[in-house]
Amino acid sequence: TMAYSKAVLVLENFIGGKFVPCSSYIDSYNPSTGDVYCRVPDSGKEEVEAAVKAAKDAFPIWSSKSPLERSQILNKLADLIEHDLEVFAQAESKDQGKTITFARTVDIPRAVYNFRFFASSILHHTTECTEMATMGCVHYTSRAPVGVAGLISPWNLPLYLLTWKIAPAIACGNTVVAKPSEMTSVTAWMMCKLLEKAGVPHGVVNVVFGTGAKAGEALVCHPDVPLISFTGSTLTAQRITEKSAPHCKRLSLELGGKNPAIIFDDADLTQCIPTTLRSSFANQGEICLCTSRIFVQRGIYSEFLKRFVAEVKKWKVGNPSDPTVDMGALISKEHLEKVRSYVKKAQAEGARVLCGEGVDSLALPTGNQKGYFMLPTVIAEVKDESCCMQEEIFGPVTCVVAFDTEEEVIERANSVKYGLAATVWSSSVGRVHRVAQRLQSGLVWTNCWLVRDLNLPFGGMKASGIGREGAKDSYEFFTEVKTITIKH
Ligand code: NAD
Repeated sequence: TMAYSKAVLVLENFIGGKFVPCSSYIDSYNPSTGDVYCRVPDSGKEEVEAAVKAAKDAFPIWSSKSPLERSQILNKLADLIEHDLEVFAQAESKDQGKTITFARTVDIPRAVYNFRFFASSILHHTTECTEMATMGCVHYTSRAPVGVAGLISPWNLPLYLLTWKIAPAIACGNTVVAKPSEMTSVTAWMMCKLLEKAGVPHGVVNVVFGTGAKAGEALVCHPDVPLISFTGSTLTAQRITEKSAPHCKRLSLELGGKNPAIIFDDADLTQCIPTTLRSSFANQGEICLCTSRIFVQRGIYSEFLKRFVAEVKKWKVGNPSDPTVDMGALISKEHLEKVRSYVKKAQAEGARVLCGEGVDSLALPTGNQKGYFMLPTVIAEVKDESCCMQEEIFGPVTCVVAFDTEEEVIERANSVKYGLAATVWSSSVGRVHRVAQRLQSGLVWTNCWLVRDLNLPFGGMKASGIGREGAKDSYEFFTEVKTITIKH
C-alpha cells in the first residue's frame, strides 16, 4: 500500500446529515500535476443502502413542506455557495484540470444559479384543468414528488451538472442520493458541508462517492429508487437502462454528442471564428456541447481555415491556476491517451493535422510536466466515415471539412448516431430557420454557442439521450402526475 502524506484530502460519504468514513478508498489525481491529492470513498451496496434509507426516512417531512419553504432553503444554499465561490472554483480547477477562469466564470456561478433558478421556477407551475359541461365534470391534474431520486453525474462539469439535478429534484419535494464521478468528487463533498446551514433537513440530500460499477450500479439497481437522472456517456446509459429495466424505473439520460458547426459563406467570420474556437476547445473540449465537426462552405473554406488555425495557435495551454491560460489539463492519463489516439488514427487515414498534437510542441511549466496536457488540435481533409468524424472524442480535437450546398450539409451533419447540439452560422434568416428545422439535434444555436435559457428544454435526440431537462421538463420528470375527475 502507498503511504499518504497529511496533505492528502480524504473525503467521506454524506448520509442522513452526517459525514461517514468508508472502509476503502480510491485515489484521485490532480490532472495538472499527475499527483494523487485526494482519496474518495469506494462505496458499494452497503453505503448506498444506508443513503437510500436516510433519503426514504426524510421524504415524508420534505415532501410535505410548501414550495415556498423549499424555495427559501434552495436560495439560502445558493447564497452560501456563492459566498465561497472562489474556494469552490479553486477546488474544481484542481480536481478537474479546467482553468480557474472557467471554474470562476462558468462552473460555480452556474451551480449557484441552478439553485436560484429552481427556487424560483418551483413557485410558478400551474397544472391543467378541463371542463366537460355536458357531463357535469371537471378534470384536473395534480403533481406530487416521486420519492428517492438517484442522481449520477460525470466529471467534466462536476458541481454544475450535479446541482442541475439536485436543485429540481429537491425543489419538487423529492429526496436524493447523488453519486458524482469518482474522478471529481471534491466540490460535491464541499457542498454537503453547507447543507445544514442552508436549512436542508438531514437525509434530503445524501451523497455516496465511488465508482460507477460499484456505487453507481448499486443505486441504479436499488428497488426503492424509482427514478434515475443520469448524465454521462451513451455506453453507460445503455448499461443503466438494462440494469433498471426489471424495476421499470423512470430515466432521464443526458449523453454524448458529435456536434456540428455549419458555416455558410455569408457568415460573419469576425464573430464565428472566436466563438467556434471556444465551442471547440472550451474546458479542453470536455463539454458534451462542444463542436467537433466544422462544415465550411467551399467559397470561404481556405480563408476560414487560415484564420481559425491562426487563432487556435494563440491559445495558451498550461497551469490551470494561471488566469492567463486558455486551456488546462485533461481529466486523466487514460483519457489523454484516448484523445491522442484519435489524432494518430486520423493521420494514418491520410487526414492533415494543421496544428496541435504531433505538429507543434508544448512547453509546460516545471510543476506541470507530469500533467495531462495536449494542444488544441485541428484536423482537415478527413472523411465523413472516419472515426474522428463519427465518434465522440471529448477532448481538444476538432475536424474541419468543406461542403457545397445546404441540402448536402444537412445530410452530412445528420449522418452520425448522436443528436445533441448544432451551431449554424449565416446572415440569412430564412436559411438559419430552414437548416435548424431539419437538423437532428436537441439544441440548435444560430450565430452563437452555449447561450442557455434554463426555462427551455435541454437534451439530445438519437444516441444523445432520452428526456429533457429545464424548468417545465425537470418539473415533469421529478413529479408524478395524476388526473382527477370531479362530478357535481
Ligand atoms: P461515464 O458514463 O463514464 O460516467 C458518468 C457517471 O456514471 C459517473 O459518475 C460514473 O461513475 C457513473 N457510472 C459509470 N458506470 C456506471 C454504471 N454501470 N452504473 C451506474 N453509474 C455508472 O461518463 P464520463 O466519462 O464521466 O463523462 C463524459 C460523458 O458524459 C461524455 O460522453 C459526455 O458527452 C457526457 N456528457 C453529457 C452531457 C449532457 O448533458 N448531454 C453533459 C456532460 C457530459
